[in-house]
Amino acid sequence: MNRKYSLFLIFIASLLGCAKPEPTGTAITNVTVIDAVNGVRENQTVVFDGDQITGVDAANTEAQFAETIDGSGKFLIPGLWDAHVHLTYDDRFTDVMPALFLSYGITSVRDTGGLMHKMLPVVKKMRADGAVAPRVFFAGPLLDGNFVVYDGISRPEIGVRNAMPADARQTIRDMKEQGVDFIKIYEMVRPDTFEAMVETARGLGLPIDSHVPLSMRAGTAGPPVDSIEHLRNIELDCAGNAPELHETRLELLKNPDELSGYELRSSLHSLQRLPAIANYDEERCDEVLESLTSTLQVPTLRLGALNLDPPFLKEDWQDALSRIPPEVREEWLNEAADMADNPVEEFTSFGEWAVFLVERMHAHGVPIGAGTDTPIFIAVPGFSLHSELEYLVRAGLSPLEAIRSATVRPAEFFSLEEQMGTIDVGKKADLVLLDANPLENISNTRRIAAVVTKGNYYDVESLLTLAKESQ
Ligand SMILES: [Zn+2]
Repeated sequence: MNRKYSLFLIFIASLLGCAKPEPTGTAITNVTVIDAVNGVRENQTVVFDGDQITGVDAANTEAQFAETIDGSGKFLIPGLWDAHVHLTYDDRFTDVMPALFLSYGITSVRDTGGLMHKMLPVVKKMRADGAVAPRVFFAGPLLDGNFVVYDGISRPEIGVRNAMPADARQTIRDMKEQGVDFIKIYEMVRPDTFEAMVETARGLGLPIDSHVPLSMRAGTAGPPVDSIEHLRNIELDCAGNAPELHETRLELLKNPDELSGYELRSSLHSLQRLPAIANYDEERCDEVLESLTSTLQVPTLRLGALNLDPPFLKEDWQDALSRIPPEVREEWLNEAADMADNPVEEFTSFGEWAVFLVERMHAHGVPIGAGTDTPIFIAVPGFSLHSELEYLVRAGLSPLEAIRSATVRPAEFFSLEEQMGTIDVGKKADLVLLDANPLENISNTRRIAAVVTKGNYYDVESLLTLAKESQ
């Protein structure tokens, strides 16, 4: 019932001299509330009405609610975000992703790259009245440079070309008109195009997500943007010979061998990434990290450090696979078997470096966000976010800080921290009810009993059924 109507009823009831207002809202009683700002509050009653939290109080048995859920022995955390997803990367996943995310407690997603004509219908469907789907925030296509990595030839087409600064300005203005929530700058842009992108997005009030372009250095490209993905190319600026590496890249980016965008990028990564890590210079790297304290880092460790804690060795991997479309299952089982049989040594070295760098970043006060790149590289939507939280704890975050990375941090990226990210009166009603304490063991975020999304309560079984039906 909407608020106006219920107020009207109360008014009529009082005119008739009948005292009792009709009970409203849903209450979760006797629950332990945990969020990254308020810490731990025991024995609480959390009430939500429509899409809003209307009460967080020490358990109160007097009040009457339309519905009451016993939260005894359970733990309530804010709805989780996956801050790096691709809803349109693999068409086999697009329809099933919303329900899958919710079944794993993810109530908001940030889509970091997809072509507009594919993204717009998906976003419209997810935002439709009554849609059972996470809140969605989207960037539109990867804004690439003269060469495009994801050009639809060797890789799926999720990038667009911006050869000159003027192209970039026009592209971003068009995207804003079509409703993007932020922009994503990619790896092959030139410094002048990068600058035009930043300036245009700022002028339009769009938050900026980015990789460090290969033509630039992290200490220069990091500070003007709001988030950086995958720690991408930061290692190049942490090397003792960072200026020389940069010079070499600028030469090679002229692309004398006429490689495709994808090949050109790969060749530069292969040439410089591991040598840069081997040449790590702590003092230089500390300077870089100091410059990044206002730029959210979404390290996607479950991708970059996959070899250190592979999903296929986890207890609930088979369960996760059972939730994805059957036609993908076989393919991923084979990929997983191949990864298990032939672990690539360079990939393990990079993973160790990535965990180390996040540890250093965290120590320097660089904000960390939780994202996964799902479904890329056998990442089951939703499942992979819980793996990411485990990685973040492995990299030195406390379980509560890991929860911050998947709640408060992404909300801050969109300047929505007043509306989302904690369990407070006036915040959006996105909640996850857990059977075990996530602060004792971050893996307990997997122990989901129920999820509240946009003010609607679902036990986990009904979300699993929904995910099965959308396969
Ligand atoms: Zn991505």
